[in-house]
Amino acid sequence: MSSNNKKKPGLSLTWLYVGVALVLGYLFVNSGDSLGGAASKTANYTEFKKYVQQGYVQDIEVNPKERTLRAVIKGDKAGEVFKQRIDPKQGAYVEVQYGSDEKLQDFLDAEQEKKHFTGNVEYKQSDSTLTSILWNFGPLLFIIVFWIFIMRRMSGGNSGGSIGGPMGIFNVGKSRATLVEKGEGKDTKVTFKDVAGQEGAKQEVQEIVEFLKNPKKYTDLGGKIPKGALLVGPPGTGKTLLAKAVAGEADVPFFSLSGSDFVEMFVGVGASRVRDLFRQAKEKSPCIVFIDEIDAVGRARGKNPGIGGNDERESTLNQLLTEMDGFGTNSGIIMLAATNRADILDKALLRAGRFDRQIHVDLPDLNERKAIFEVHLRPLKIDETLDVDLLARQTPGFSGADIANVCNEAALIAARHDKTCVTKDDFLSAVDRIIGGLEKKTKVMTAGEKRTIALHEAGHATVSWNLQHANPLVKVTIVPRGQALGAAWYMPEERQITTKEQMLDEMCATLGGRAAEELFTGHISSGALNDLERVTKQAYSMIAYLGMSEALPNLCYYDNQEYNFQRPYSEETARLIDKEVQRMIAEQYQRAKTILLDKQEGHAQLTQLLVDREVILAEDVEGIFGKRPWASRSEELMG
Ligand code: ADP
Ligand code: MG
Ligand code: ZN
Repeated sequence: MSSNNKKKPGLSLTWLYVGVALVLGYLFVNSGDSLGGAASKTANYTEFKKYVQQGYVQDIEVNPKERTLRAVIKGDKAGEVFKQRIDPKQGAYVEVQYGSDEKLQDFLDAEQEKKHFTGNVEYKQSDSTLTSILWNFGPLLFIIVFWIFIMRRMSGGNSGGSIGGPMGIFNVGKSRATLVEKGEGKDTKVTFKDVAGQEGAKQEVQEIVEFLKNPKKYTDLGGKIPKGALLVGPPGTGKTLLAKAVAGEADVPFFSLSGSDFVEMFVGVGASRVRDLFRQAKEKSPCIVFIDEIDAVGRARGKNPGIGGNDERESTLNQLLTEMDGFGTNSGIIMLAATNRADILDKALLRAGRFDRQIHVDLPDLNERKAIFEVHLRPLKIDETLDVDLLARQTPGFSGADIANVCNEAALIAARHDKTCVTKDDFLSAVDRIIGGLEKKTKVMTAGEKRTIALHEAGHATVSWNLQHANPLVKVTIVPRGQALGAAWYMPEERQITTKEQMLDEMCATLGGRAAEELFTGHISSGALNDLERVTKQAYSMIAYLGMSEALPNLCYYDNQEYNFQRPYSEETARLIDKEVQRMIAEQYQRAKTILLDKQEGHAQLTQLLVDREVILAEDVEGIFGKRPWASRSEELMG
């Protein structure tokens, strides 16, 4: 059901509803007798004969098919027939079941001759069989139609096709994957060339394609083909694009669907869709299955089942886990998934043998942004002198999707001004527009913000470089990542125990960011949230659990009982702990400020370097501050 999912012009649902409404309306009007609120009763044939002979009957309506007749009683005689007062204008009739048409005919002829009966006899071509069928089944039909309507609503209702068609009710448990067959859609396909930057991610994904194309090469050496890879990264960085490129380049069938396609109102649907997906995939193996936005199903399962848990989603996830275990390692199905919330995924999904490979797709840095600009500038008519480098510089923190947006917006702005090509000014106003629109939502930053973040990150780097026990620095960046606006990477040393000095130095380096902001911009910002959180937790654990302060030496108030609402220490101790935490952090903050003031010049150089290059490595820091005078800790231990 991939591209040949054309809309059938067939019976539109709306018409079906109108039809049902009309039928019901007709039935309603017709079922009531034409005499409105007339009095009526059933009578036997003998009674009927008596009424006719007494001249009470005005007209007769005969329904030969059912052998019934309806005798309309004269208004003034109705009271006698019904033994109660009846308004002559109201009308009245009796319903009678008779034996044979001939006998009835003879009787009526005789009575007409005797002038007992002078009215008309009308033979009715009955539709009452139909009427009664409709009466019996109409409501049922109505319910069915209503049910179909609800089903369609819930399953997205994106198809005008026939009931039971691809999206119909009878296929609720079928997987909704889009299948791109081998070699299909050659002309529209996305290739790796369309994905700019992301070299690391591209390479890993290409390797997966390679596994499928040439599995023998790997299995001969005893290697196992991976089962799944997870593309993780912020929105708009090209995860879906990469998967599309895989579909375009891999010479195998490619199933693609979104995590939310599993989720349905009905219990069990998700799980059966998962089963169906894997059944199809096994038939087509070797193949690739891509689940976009997998967090819709892969969210961590609730810890306490029953309370606010989503059982349906959990059973879908369980089914997915089971299926991923179910196919053998070399059965030739490789799962790809994308998410921007790897942190909320269930741990079981990420364990070895499932999505054990994580491919990080991060926001692009300066050079990558340039490459992405080049991809998206291709289809535009641009001014020859346009400086792509400048554009890349003007767009710190932009994702690939934002850049695509800038290019499009610039073209629209140029068109609005009736230009023949898109110029630098158009691009700059597009950038402004997008910054204005996105600022609050994403991590796009202004030049001022960029400088503050650079100051902050340079603060961490400067302080840690000049502290003996801080972890050695690897890389500093101001490209936003996750919740943080920038990041400094350290090489954590493998160690079993940590000394108090190491902890204090790390705390000091962590506070270096805010200290730099305060010293060099004059105000402090929200950018230090994560730092402060880490420092506070660290200080509490040092003082309350590790007994590392002078005021509370060698005391551990750690309590490993999960639900303990009572503190294992007195009110007084609690106050003391708080005071010690405050003191420890204030001390380290002061120490960070002292180091920064001491190394002010180096810090300024580092900041400028960060603003220019966005990413700097340990060598650059070394170039500014010189080699660290201390041996690295591992050497220290050896010596
Ligand atoms: P997500 O990571 O949220 O799945 P998408 O893959 O849907 O992001 O990217 C959205 C759009 O942004 C793409 O269609 C493409 O136009 C553009 N884009 C994102 N990253 C890149 C990139 N690395 N190279 C070229 N274009 C990109
Ligand atoms: Mg996506
Ligand atoms: Zn920081």
